[in-house]
Amino acid sequence: MPIGDPGRTHAILAKYGLTSKKSLGQNFLTAPTILQDIAQTANLSSADDVLEIGPGIGSLTEQLAQNAHQVLALEIDQRLLPVLKETLATYTNVKVLNQDVLKSDLATLIRQNFDGQHAIKVVANLPYYITTPILLRLLESGVAFSQIVVMMQREVADRVAAAPGSKIYGSLSIAIQYQMAVKLALTVPKTAFMPQPKVDSAIVSLTRRQNKINIAADEQLFTRVVKGSFAQRRKSLWNNLLALFGKTAATKEALTAVLKQVDIDPGVRAERLSVTDFVRLTNAIGDNPN
Ligand code: SAM
Repeated sequence: MPIGDPGRTHAILAKYGLTSKKSLGQNFLTAPTILQDIAQTANLSSADDVLEIGPGIGSLTEQLAQNAHQVLALEIDQRLLPVLKETLATYTNVKVLNQDVLKSDLATLIRQNFDGQHAIKVVANLPYYITTPILLRLLESGVAFSQIVVMMQREVADRVAAAPGSKIYGSLSIAIQYQMAVKLALTVPKTAFMPQPKVDSAIVSLTRRQNKINIAADEQLFTRVVKGSFAQRRKSLWNNLLALFGKTAATKEALTAVLKQVDIDPGVRAERLSVTDFVRLTNAIGDNPN
């Protein structure tokens, strides 16, 4: 019987006297078909190594171990280590480390634990209290994950996938879409979890963009420009950029020239600009240090 079977999950938690910790976002998936859907969405095969964040009691890890070459799982809650040792005992291709994903050096862990001969994917049912920091950390890790398939709260999934012009399109959408193509794979009801979270969830698939045209020459500047442009959503791009770079006459002159060069209306709001617009804007600003 799969670990994610509701009866088995109950029995495992009871055996170890465990109650789920809300503070760690512990909502265990107890819907075996959805666990399979997640693995299928990630198109796993023996050509893939997988990083999992938050294995819990191992229900998703089991699916990953059955379908991929190697699995490395990072779990912050020490109480779960003996549980995972037992539930995953039959899988020789899984390694669990007691680590906080937000404090670990992902590039080094991956170098140390994977052979470099396989595609590297992330598959996880994320702890929702840190969804955004985890996504940003994955993207900033320097590891070229070929695919990231993660369950998150529906509302964040919608922001990740949002298109220009939408009210929820913002710096998170841009940070993700700059590197990855986003697909909302499946929405998942609260009832699939134990205990049930307050919100519905969605499985999001991110695949690495192949087109290299839209590269910001200075990625730190790109992040500053994007965040600064959305600092006050209701204000114009012009006002946000002035707040970011300073309101001197020299800045105004330089920004006027930059916006003209990239053919972007200063009066527009940031939510109208595509990822490519932000890259062009950043690169033009980078060429005009004033
Ligand atoms: N994978 C399991 C499942 O699908 O049933 C559990 C998912 S549960 C939503 C999130 C898991 O992430 C929990 O096991 C929790 O202890 C773990 N977690 C929370 N914060 C973490 C962190 N900073 N680093 C690593 N794991 C974390």
